[in-house]
Amino acid sequence: MPETFVHKFDTPVFKGTVEIPTGIFIDGKFIDGADGNYIDVVNPTNGKVITRVSEGTPKDVDRAVEAAQRAFDTVWGHNMPGYERGKLLYRLAELIEKYQDEFSAVEALDNGKTFAWAKKSDITMAIGTFRYYAGWADKLHGNTIETSKDKIVYTINEPLGVVGQIIPWNFPLMMVSWKLGPALAAGNTVILKPSEFTPLTALFAAKLTVEAGFPPGVVNVINGYGSTVGSAIAHHMHIEKVAFTGSTLIGRKVLEASAKTNLKDTSLELGGKSPNIIFDDCDIEQALDWAIHGIFWNHGQTCCAGSRIFVHAKIYDEFLARFTERTKQVKVGDPFSPETYQGPQVSQQQYDRVMEFISSGKEQGATVHLGGERWGKEGYFIQPTIFTDVHRDMRIVQEEIFGPVGVVIRFDDDDDVVHQANDSIYGLAASIFTKNIDRALRTSQRLKAGTAWINCANQLHPQVPFGGYKQSGIGRELGEHALEHYTAVKSVHINLGHKP
Ligand code: NAD
Repeated sequence: MPETFVHKFDTPVFKGTVEIPTGIFIDGKFIDGADGNYIDVVNPTNGKVITRVSEGTPKDVDRAVEAAQRAFDTVWGHNMPGYERGKLLYRLAELIEKYQDEFSAVEALDNGKTFAWAKKSDITMAIGTFRYYAGWADKLHGNTIETSKDKIVYTINEPLGVVGQIIPWNFPLMMVSWKLGPALAAGNTVILKPSEFTPLTALFAAKLTVEAGFPPGVVNVINGYGSTVGSAIAHHMHIEKVAFTGSTLIGRKVLEASAKTNLKDTSLELGGKSPNIIFDDCDIEQALDWAIHGIFWNHGQTCCAGSRIFVHAKIYDEFLARFTERTKQVKVGDPFSPETYQGPQVSQQQYDRVMEFISSGKEQGATVHLGGERWGKEGYFIQPTIFTDVHRDMRIVQEEIFGPVGVVIRFDDDDDVVHQANDSIYGLAASIFTKNIDRALRTSQRLKAGTAWINCANQLHPQVPFGGYKQSGIGRELGEHALEHYTAVKSVHINLGHKP
């Protein structure tokens, strides 16, 4: 029998107890993995083990696929009208809302993000996303198409069947909602693999799917490593589609796995190195607020982080001085303190990775303008860091750091900044700060990015598509667009007397 994680929180922002089953969730039940192994879950604030979860295996993926196929064939897919599926999604949203403090606390404990931001962004977004897709469940209409007088053709948007979903650790529950919401609304059954670093809120949500009334086998959650469970999902011959969010490196492997097996539909949400462009005619106060949020929100562990900050030469000195002062005010510390803005990086691996990038910046001749060191004595904290004197060939300018590290770069004119901003293998998002609407819109058109934020940054809404150009991904999540990844169009021709 799998264990239950029971944790009593006694913090300034939340007091209460949570109980989360730690098994893998297949066919509506929490069970141990086939090999009986476990994965430790670590608190990034102090490096101590919080609990352990059952480790899934490829055999468990097979069992989950069987359960999901059975559910699809008997109680889900064509067997349950969209309206009923929508009701279940609404109920799940309500339950997450009921436990929003518990979810926020577990996210803070497991991931290191602050309780306040977990509640304000991650959990709120997850609730909103489930509600949004609940509304879509009975609105996936097809079309009728006129071809000739003695024929009627209509289309239906059918669910694909069993889909696999692989998610990262930076927004654990939010990623669950971005994945489950559209897949379930469209009538698919799901095998979801959370990150091995942050499995707890996905398991909490799995527990609530039972309470919400989802039939067994519709949602399956398998904790496990990427090289075993993730790879088994990507290679599975009976999984019709895989949706992956994570690094470009692994996204490539997932696409290769599809090509080598059953050519499953593959959507990818990958990395970024987003430009944040500060023109000389901007509202500088507003640009400063958003530039801080752009790079330091979620400790820089945001795929769309505004990590390359381009500042017009005319205001470069003033902006850099004020940005430096603001960065000094970014409060690092305990995720459960109401004053904290930046908690620890998620894991020892990520801490080492970010520190290695900082060393590479120094070695390649960039100036550490601020920060650049460990913060505190324990846990995986890193000082908010600003680099200047950088050039395009440096790793810190080209590669995704995924930490609280921004590079500030001077530019001279609009052509120059568009050229520099597009000089990246990525194309996820971009921010533009100017009071001139023509300049804002012209620049947004010229940037190769899936999202352009004008006078803001890191804004996500369930209704608005999100995804990348270039090596930032394939396809779009959220909004109506996400549903296209979870449906197949069937054309039905009805003959009214037409002869061959
Ligand atoms: P990662 O690529 O290391 O892991 C992502 C997921 O893939 C994890 O669940 C992991 O276990 C699994 N995985 C690892 N190896 C696998 C394999 N061989 N086959 C199948 N699955 C495998 O990424 P991460 O470190 O968890 O997350 C950070 C990355 O995610 C960053 O690059 C970030 O930009 C990206 N990200 C992108 C978006 C977006 O919407 N574009 C959102 C969040 C994060």
